[in-house]
Amino acid sequence: MTLARGGLYFSKAQRVQPHRLLKALAQTEGLTIRRAYAARLESHAQQWCVRDRAGHVVAQAPQIVLAGGLGTQSLLEASGLRRMGSRLSSMYAVAGELTYVDQALLAGGPRCIVSGDGYVLPALEGLCVVGGSYLNEPHPAGPTCAGRQENLKRLERLFNDPLSLGPRETGAFKGWVGQRAVVPDRFPVVGPLLHAPGLWVATGFASRGLTWASLAGDLIAAALNSEPLPLENDIMMKISQI
Ligand SMILES: Cc1cc2nc3c(=O)[nH]c(=O)nc-3n(C[C@H](O)[C@H](O)[C@H](O)COP(=O)(O)OP(=O)(O)OC[C@H]3O[C@@H](n4cnc5c(N)ncnc54)[C@H](O)[C@@H]3O)c2cc1C
Repeated sequence: MTLARGGLYFSKAQRVQPHRLLKALAQTEGLTIRRAYAARLESHAQQWCVRDRAGHVVAQAPQIVLAGGLGTQSLLEASGLRRMGSRLSSMYAVAGELTYVDQALLAGGPRCIVSGDGYVLPALEGLCVVGGSYLNEPHPAGPTCAGRQENLKRLERLFNDPLSLGPRETGAFKGWVGQRAVVPDRFPVVGPLLHAPGLWVATGFASRGLTWASLAGDLIAAALNSEPLPLENDIMMKISQI
């Protein structure tokens, strides 16, 4: 496939299917998974206690990392811990969607990830993933016509090749809709909550959660174990302003 312009080739770039990755990560030794909705946090005798909607304790620990995406704000709010004017309180939802395009329509699809303004992934089970649109509406119920058209335009721009399909054919393309938790400066929000010692936050990953999340995990683990931090101070200062 010909590309619209040159670029950099990352031979070790990976594509991730989040559900499969999560399933694999859940097998990690020493990890216990509990499915519950965290409705409120309380602190007693240097322990943080997480309660569900019925008030039952679902978890208790001296250190807790809140990684609930957009839900992190409401959990802090319900616990009386949200600070107005903070970076975290300025976080908002930006919805977007992916479009699945039959690889046959793309001459089999690319053999490596092609990314620029948007991306096209090599086919899996016959479908290439094209993404990711930015929608004006923060809570769409499902894939939208506008989102699909935006993604197909990105695809055409990346490959410099109009798809030459009518609205009837493209209207049948399936998609996926999700939300990004975005802070206006586009940096994530990672670090300790200074007004609630023992609570940590890892959210605000915007469009780069799959890349940032593992680094955020390393940062918090290093801080908890008093190890050198794997990031430069200026970036640390930026993301840990919570
Ligand atoms: C269309 C689209 C395309 C994208 N493409 C990419 C990409 O190519 N690469 C990339 O790196 N990123 C991409 N992103 C961004 C990526 O999806 C996010 O950055 C990432 O999902 C953020 O991860 P998270 O764990 O912080 O939040 P989430 O994925 O939102 O997960 C938070 C979880 O916490 C749960 N939760 C919230 N509140 C509570 C509570 N009170 N109790 C219990 N559970 C709770 C939620 O149910 C949810 O399961 C894309 C996003 C969209 C919308």
